Amino acid sequence: MKISRITSSHVLTTLDLLQVTYPEASCALTHQNPWQLLVATILSAQCTDVRVNLVTPVLFKRFLDPASLAVADQVEVENLIRSTGFFRNKAKNLIGCAAALVRFHKNVVPQELTALIALPGVGRKTANVVLGNAFDIPGMVVDTHVGRVARRLGWATARTPEGVEEQLCKLLPSGRWTQTAHVLIFHGRQCCRAQTAWCSACPVVDRCPQVGVGRQK
Ligand code: SF4
Repeated sequence: MKISRITSSHVLTTLDLLQVTYPEASCALTHQNPWQLLVATILSAQCTDVRVNLVTPVLFKRFLDPASLAVADQVEVENLIRSTGFFRNKAKNLIGCAAALVRFHKNVVPQELTALIALPGVGRKTANVVLGNAFDIPGMVVDTHVGRVARRLGWATARTPEGVEEQLCKLLPSGRWTQTAHVLIFHGRQCCRAQTAWCSACPVVDRCPQVGVGRQK
């Protein structure tokens, strides 16, 4: 199956099969509001969601909103988030992000992509996570799992997250963007892994042009 033959309807059917396989696919970062999701997503870079969820309860209790974090002592923040890795840079970004929310957005998280990616520590992936999961505004999140699985399934050819995002957004209706990322992330973690794809157990094996890629489980 060549990518030129892959249609939106083929992709949607494949997605439906994956959704049935992973009914629990959703945002795994614990949060109560957009601000908490923004913080958790910044912390999730190079870190597992499980680890982030262990750290954020204490952080959110200590800093209730952007205004309180904007004036935080960086060393205190570093100590609270140390186990998530890259803690100095993340603490700096969290405080800078909070300060920008206070200064430019009246202490609330904006609902526009351009405003979000202008915040310190916030790239397109983080912005789309917040849009899709905190505001129910379609956002196509492309992380390492989404990029790899989309390329293996023949849905994208781009090598950059931005390129894959653009190709997937063209292929899918906006109402499916947010859930597509959740499903592909689950499939990428549980079956179509980077080093060891488990094609013999894959629910969409007969719809994949790269069956047998890499090492097989
Ligand atoms: S058949 Fe293999 S390579 Fe294709 S999506 Fe499934 S696990 Fe990934």
